[in-house]
Amino acid sequence: MSKTLRVAVTGAKGKMGQEVVKMVLQEADFQLVVAIDPSSAGVDAGVLVGKEPCGVIVQADLDQALRESAADVLVDFTIPQVVMDNVRTAIRHGVRPVIGTTGMSPADIEEIDNLLKEKAIGGLIAPNFSIGAILMMKFAAQVAKYMPHVEIIEYHGDQKLDAPSGTSIKTAELIAANRQELRQGNPHEHETIDGARGGYYNGFRIHSVRLPGVFAQQEVVFGGYGQTLKIRHDSYERAGYMPGVAVAVRKVMDCTGVVYGFEHFID
Ligand code: NAP
Repeated sequence: MSKTLRVAVTGAKGKMGQEVVKMVLQEADFQLVVAIDPSSAGVDAGVLVGKEPCGVIVQADLDQALRESAADVLVDFTIPQVVMDNVRTAIRHGVRPVIGTTGMSPADIEEIDNLLKEKAIGGLIAPNFSIGAILMMKFAAQVAKYMPHVEIIEYHGDQKLDAPSGTSIKTAELIAANRQELRQGNPHEHETIDGARGGYYNGFRIHSVRLPGVFAQQEVVFGGYGQTLKIRHDSYERAGYMPGVAVAVRKVMDCTGVVYGFEHFID
């Protein structure tokens, strides 16, 4: 029988964090050992997510909690301002981070890679854990070889903190790796309203739509002579990310250094 993995969750009260707590309580080979959320300290983590009490009390201090927990993996869905501190704390305790929080910079990723290698453990940074979104990114990277003119339009709820989304940045990076840098559009174009053409990345544009009622969607639009090709992915609910998070918790045990992108954990 496989070893039971001891899992810590930061951001346990958050929208994603609650789904992670439910998933960890449900999976037979996972044991929830730590749940952190500053504004819900003292509450049973099971009760926090609308389930039976599970005996794990939500705490505010990750460092203190990890000292006593012998956790194997930390799953973090928090906010860009705190994720790096959480990850540094986890690695210091020899706990492998699985990071869903978006908005991390290339310098953050490099720092995490160095810290992980010093401890000879692995970690995952995944801007998107959904299989459909991973396929959208892979298809987009393939198309970019043949149709290099592209724009990305991503749609999220109006309370999202970072823009553009982590998924759109990851998609842009994969596209950039598959085509020559190409500054698109009319060289003489100018914006009558600032930002009208979206964010600039490697010659192309990323547009971030933020509206109430929207969950998470992305379109990658390619234009060629007399034709366009659109690749679109729609996420409808947070539970859809959890099978991916469960795979990540298991697979992160077997790697060293940072893995950036959930696509590396699936065939
Ligand atoms: P959310 O509902 O705002 O949750 C964030 C949670 O983090 C809140 O419960 C907040 O607690 C908590 N938090 C703040 N400071 C903390 C700290 N120091 N330690 C522990 N927890 C802390 O946001 P969400 O919708 O769950 O999204 C969370 C992140 O996941 C975002 O970056 C989002 O972009 C990302 N995301 C990633 C994926 C993916 O597939 N990778 C999918 C969806 C979302 P308080 O309320 O107490 O402040």
